[in-house]
Amino acid sequence: MKNCIDIKNPNECCGCAACLNICPKDAIVMIENEVGFIYPKVQEELCVNCGMCKSVCVFNKKGIGENKEPKVFAGVINDRETLKKSSSGGAFSAIANVILQEGGVVFGAAWEKDFSLSHIAAHSGEELEKLRGSKYVQSAIGTSFREAKTLLDAGKLVCYSGTPCQISGLKSYLGKDYENLLTVDIICHGVPSLKMLKDDLTFVSGKEIDELTDVKFRDKCYGWGTKGSITTKNKRIKYNAGTSPYYFYFLKGEVYRESCYNCRFPSEKRQGDITLGDYWGIKTELLKKLGDIDPDLGVSCVLVNTEKGEKWLDTAKEVLSLTVSNRKSVEKRNGQLIKHSTPLPEHQSLLEGYKTNGFSSFKAGYKKHTKDHIIRGIKNLIPSKIKRKINDFLSRS
Ligand SMILES: Cc1cc2nc3c(=O)[nH]c(=O)nc-3n(C[C@H](O)[C@H](O)[C@H](O)COP(=O)(O)OP(=O)(O)OC[C@H]3O[C@@H](n4cnc5c(N)ncnc54)[C@H](O)[C@@H]3O)c2cc1C
Ligand code: SF4
Ligand code: SF4
Ligand code: SF4
Repeated sequence: MKNCIDIKNPNECCGCAACLNICPKDAIVMIENEVGFIYPKVQEELCVNCGMCKSVCVFNKKGIGENKEPKVFAGVINDRETLKKSSSGGAFSAIANVILQEGGVVFGAAWEKDFSLSHIAAHSGEELEKLRGSKYVQSAIGTSFREAKTLLDAGKLVCYSGTPCQISGLKSYLGKDYENLLTVDIICHGVPSLKMLKDDLTFVSGKEIDELTDVKFRDKCYGWGTKGSITTKNKRIKYNAGTSPYYFYFLKGEVYRESCYNCRFPSEKRQGDITLGDYWGIKTELLKKLGDIDPDLGVSCVLVNTEKGEKWLDTAKEVLSLTVSNRKSVEKRNGQLIKHSTPLPEHQSLLEGYKTNGFSSFKAGYKKHTKDHIIRGIKNLIPSKIKRKINDFLSRS
């Protein structure tokens, strides 16, 4: 009887690569499916049927965490330059810098030269730059869990950041708690595939991927929000739901990995010692308490889930301004803290279209949405008195 992973339903694999990392025979590789999501594949000739991959998989486990009610803050990094480069309030950089100063290593998601996204280790402030900023696509874990374990076993301080499923995968792979490990998860509603992103980048920029020099999903030169940019040698192109089918469908929640619609992690029990997100709604929730902090420059919500998280946040206080809040206040504009995304009716047809016709199916659907949106906008500009007269006229003719 086979004792290795056997994914019966694509919504029961988040691609965390814990199985790949734990396999003693390197028998597992990650393979892209037709729409670009990566899934583990066992190379039968190498497998010794030890069962380790099956037992490490979070989808074969009960329970997802035990932390108590978190302490919650609004957080903004004091350094303005870093704040500008961060997606929300730069809380990640504040915490990561403290870890580096203590001689530690920070893991997180970084662009490769060809705009693939991978988890890498940052040993210096310069390397940390690459982790900064949200990249709205699935990051490949590769063998970074093994790398983190080697460092942890050698007594090195490690901070590992990622989506809740990645942090869950890491903890399951490690199999025990390390005092010298700090985990940071982000509030997450889902990830599309890298293949979709690369198709979109080429479409929006009109350039080949190797002609792009930077991609930002959140560019603060457009303010704190969901507007980004693609940079080439000569120009900067706006990248947002108004220019990009991918970004549009990402924000609508239509093109995520199947496991994101079955995500186990929206819960009071968080995976990270610290959870970070955008404090959307800060102005209605906490404006009076913010003092001289400008909420328009971006504010992070910081959930402190464990004593270890509390200890490290305390150390970061010198570089991070914190305002006390509570979970309910964050949840109001961040439902994904407690509830996973639900696929809309268009989800299946979009993915089927992508399988058969490639990215043109995204473009066609997007064109229709934007056309409808413009028509709705024009209709809204017409005063209701005139609208009624037009309707009366049409019903009579
Ligand atoms: C796919 C995705 C979905 C998100 N959805 C929400 C949401 O619904 N609500 C919300 O409040 N916040 C969401 N966030 C988090 C938010 O965008 C910011 O990352 C968070 O507020 C931290 O911002 P910061 O300014 O402290 O640090 P930043 O410097 O902006 O964030 C950097 C951190 O994000 C990590 N990161 C970036 N891209 C990825 C990736 N693809 N996979 C794993 N880790 C990544 C880096 O490793 C690093 O830890 C999401 C982030 C991602 C990547
Ligand atoms: S360990 Fe992670 S990548 Fe492997 S099968 Fe389970 S969910 Fe998928
Ligand atoms: S059963 Fe053991 S050897 Fe086979 S793929 Fe899984 S971990 Fe690797
Ligand atoms: S929504 Fe859940 S499964 Fe999807 S990337 Fe985020 S944490 Fe992982």
